[in-house]
Amino acid sequence: MIKESLLNPAEAHVQQQIGAGDYWLHRIEKGQTLRITDLEGNQAADTLFFNADDTAERYSMSDTLRGQHNVFLTAGSVLRSNDDRPMLTIVADTCGRHDTLGGACATESNTVRYDLEKRHMHACRDSWMLAVAEHPEYGLTRRDITHNINFFMNVPVTHEGGLTFADGISAPGKYVELVAQMNILVLISNCPQLNNPCNGYNPTPILVSVW
Ligand SMILES: [Zn+2]
Repeated sequence: MIKESLLNPAEAHVQQQIGAGDYWLHRIEKGQTLRITDLEGNQAADTLFFNADDTAERYSMSDTLRGQHNVFLTAGSVLRSNDDRPMLTIVADTCGRHDTLGGACATESNTVRYDLEKRHMHACRDSWMLAVAEHPEYGLTRRDITHNINFFMNVPVTHEGGLTFADGISAPGKYVELVAQMNILVLISNCPQLNNPCNGYNPTPILVSVW
C-alpha cells in the first residue's frame, strides 16, 4: 500500500548515508520514527531489529506474517517479535511492498545460488558479523544474526509456492518509514550483492533518517 509521510526531512535529527556493503547499527527510542530511503533505486536494505533493552527479543518473520495474514510488508504492517509483541509499525511506504521471506545473502548461499568462485564476495551476513564484532557494547553475538527484512527487495511468490528474485519495484527516492513501539536496536546491511537483479546488479547507497 502506497502511503506518503508527512515528516519534514529537514527536521530529522539523524541523517546518514550508508554505502553499499556497509552496515548501520543504531539505537532508536520508543516513539521515534526511522526512515530508510532507496537513493538510487533497486537497492536491498537487509535489516534486523532487536529490543534494545533485551536483545534476546528480536524481529520474528513468522510471528509478523502470522499476525498480518500477508507475506509482504508495507504500510500498516506491524513488525512482531519472537515474544509476539509489536516492535515497530510501518507508517509510510512509497515502494509498495518489502520482502521478509528471502533471507540475507551469505558467502555460502552465493556459492549455492551462483558459482563456487563467488565464495569470496562480500555478503550481508559478513556485514552483520562485522557490526557485532565492532560493537560489543550492544551485547549482540553472532547467535543474534537471525531472520531479517529485505526492504525494497522484490521476491515474488510464484503460483507453485516458490520464491523468485525479480527485478526491483523500487525506484530512486522511494522510502519506508517505521515508528518504534519499544526501544529498538537497528542493524542494517546495505546489500553488496552483485549476482541477482534485486539491486540491479549495481549496489548503491541508502539514506537513514530518524525523527
Ligand atoms: Zn545481501
